[in-house]
Amino acid sequence: MTPAGLTLPAQAATPISSSGGSEGHPHGPHGRGRPCVITRRACFSASHVYRLPDISNAENEARFGLCSLEPGHGHNYELVVAMAGPLDADGMVLNLSEVKHAIRREVTDPLNFRCLNGLWPEFDLSRPEGTLPTTEALALAISTRLTPHLPVVAIRLYEHPDLWADVLSGPASHPMEAFLSIRTHFAAAHRLAREELSQAENEAIYGKCARVHGHGHNYLLEITVRGRIQERTGMICDLAALQQLVQERVVEPFDHTFLNKDIPHFAGCVPTAENIALHIADLLTAPIADLGARLHKVRLQESPNNAAEVYAETAQLGMVPGALEAVAAS
Ligand SMILES: [Zn+2]
Ligand SMILES: [Zn+2]
Repeated sequence: MTPAGLTLPAQAATPISSSGGSEGHPHGPHGRGRPCVITRRACFSASHVYRLPDISNAENEARFGLCSLEPGHGHNYELVVAMAGPLDADGMVLNLSEVKHAIRREVTDPLNFRCLNGLWPEFDLSRPEGTLPTTEALALAISTRLTPHLPVVAIRLYEHPDLWADVLSGPASHPMEAFLSIRTHFAAAHRLAREELSQAENEAIYGKCARVHGHGHNYLLEITVRGRIQERTGMICDLAALQQLVQERVVEPFDHTFLNKDIPHFAGCVPTAENIALHIADLLTAPIADLGARLHKVRLQESPNNAAEVYAETAQLGMVPGALEAVAAS
C-alpha cells in the first residue's frame, strides 16, 4: 500500500510528533487533536452460493466449482475495521462502545446466520448492478454501510484464514476497487552463500545459514492482488484461476526442493527470503495481469520471526507499508 492509502480526515492534520514541552501544548490535554488509527474486530457467520441466473447450471458449475452447489455453504467471517481521526478530549479516536454498536447495528446483526445472496440490494441479482456475495464484494458493501457512521480508512474481511479482502476508504481510494489475498505454503531447503566468497566469509555474513548442506523452512506465502470488482460475479478476478496460477507457477515447482540447486534462478542468486519473494513477484506479475488484476504484494514468511514483503506495483525504494498493515497487525 502506498502512503496515499492511509489518508487521515482533514481535521486530523495535527503533526504526529509531540514536543511534550511545557511552553504551551501544541495539542490539547490527553493527546487531544493528535491523529491515530484504531481497529475493531467483529465476527459473524453467513452462507452463500455462487450461481448466476443468466447462465446454465453446467456453466455455473464450470465457473464456480463447489461454490455453485445448492443450497450453498457457510463461513465464519472475521471483520476488521480500521478507523482514523484525531483524539478527543478523553484521549480516544472514538468511544469503543459507539464503534461496537455501529458495527453490530449496520453489519453483524443484519448478516449473522443469514444467507447473503439477495440479502442486501448489492447482492440482488435481479438488479443489473447486483453481484454474487464474494469476499471482496461483501467487504465493499460493509465499507459502504459503515463509512457514514465511522471514520473508516480500511476494511479487512476474512472468509477464512487463507482468503481475505481489503477495501480502502477515503479520497485516495477508487469506489469499486478492492484487494484480495490468498495464503498458501510450501516447504523448501536453501543455503545462504555467495559462490565467490570463501566458506569463512559466507559464515561471517550468513551465520549458520551458510552451512554447506543447507537447511529448510515451511514457507507461508501470501499473494495480494488489486482490481475492480466485476459486475455480476463480484470478483476482482477468477479466484480459482488465481489459486491455480500460484499453485502451478510457485508452489508446485518450489515445494520440497533445494532452492539453490532445483530452481535455476537461484543458481546465481542467493535465495534469501527477500530474493525468493522478489522472484515470486517476477513469476506472477504477468500471469496475474492476464487474469485482469494487478499483483499488489507478495509476503513470504520464512519462520515465525521473519518475513519479506514485496510491493510489486511500487518502485522498490518507495515501498512503504500503509493502511493494509494497520489492519493486518490486529
Ligand atoms: Zn464460500
Ligand atoms: Zn533459512
